[in-house]
Amino acid sequence: MPVHVGGVLLDLERLERFARKHKLWVVEDAAHAFPAGRRSADGSFRQRSNGARSVTCYSFYANKTITTGEGGMAVTSNQALADRIRLMSLHGLSADAWDRYSTNGSWDYKIVAPGYKYNLTDIAAAIGIHQLARAEVMRREREQIARRYSEALAGVEQIELPLADDSRVDSWHLFAIKLRLNRLTIDRDTFMKELKQSGVGCSVHWRPLHLHPYYQKTFGYRAADFPVATGQWKRLISLPIFPGMRDEEIDHVIRTVERICARHAR
Ligand SMILES: *Cc1c(COP(=O)(O)O)cnc(C)c1O
Repeated sequence: MPVHVGGVLLDLERLERFARKHKLWVVEDAAHAFPAGRRSADGSFRQRSNGARSVTCYSFYANKTITTGEGGMAVTSNQALADRIRLMSLHGLSADAWDRYSTNGSWDYKIVAPGYKYNLTDIAAAIGIHQLARAEVMRREREQIARRYSEALAGVEQIELPLADDSRVDSWHLFAIKLRLNRLTIDRDTFMKELKQSGVGCSVHWRPLHLHPYYQKTFGYRAADFPVATGQWKRLISLPIFPGMRDEEIDHVIRTVERICARHAR
């Protein structure tokens, strides 16, 4: 279950090779990755894993790149799986039940499997279809903001910036910087407190699973069991990035980050 964190697509060929070798399915968590893509070694441009044993899952929750309030979408090139998902998402009703309200539809329907009620509502779909039309426009707006951040903050030695790459189209769902803690006299939490005091909303994506009480209690995990995840977590801050962000807001974020870094430089 690869997660395309922040909307940066992972190397799909490598994933698929790994999955084939170990006879695994690929279930992509693409909740951040609509729209996103990358150029493969063979030159083709791909937006998802499309093998016979792949399914890509998008989220349309309120804070995602396109939204229907709640909801999502599973995409697959596997026809049998697509049929199964459709069937199970609406009570396990036989396929012909879909048009039982149309003129030529039959009044009869049959339950052929013990299904769920996981269908997107018509009202949510009505929102989503218009969001869909704006998805690329909104992505470009976020990309512009990312470019402004990257250019303006390139010389700030106290932080590491996300790396853009010409072979990729990133969704820019997140703009996560990493603090160079050895160049700062403050920790991440203090850095975030100062950002918030200046009116810059920020967050961290995410607290690793092994640092959540449930997983610690249930599996006995300690911070030191996953030193890489623990170390990265202590450095991460996601800066604001959203379509409609005004120039002066972007400038305010940049100036605030610069000021905090200068004030607490080591
Ligand atoms: C939001 C999110 C999900 C969950 O999406 P839902 O539509 O709320 O089920 C899963 N994975 C990641 C990485 C997310 O950000």
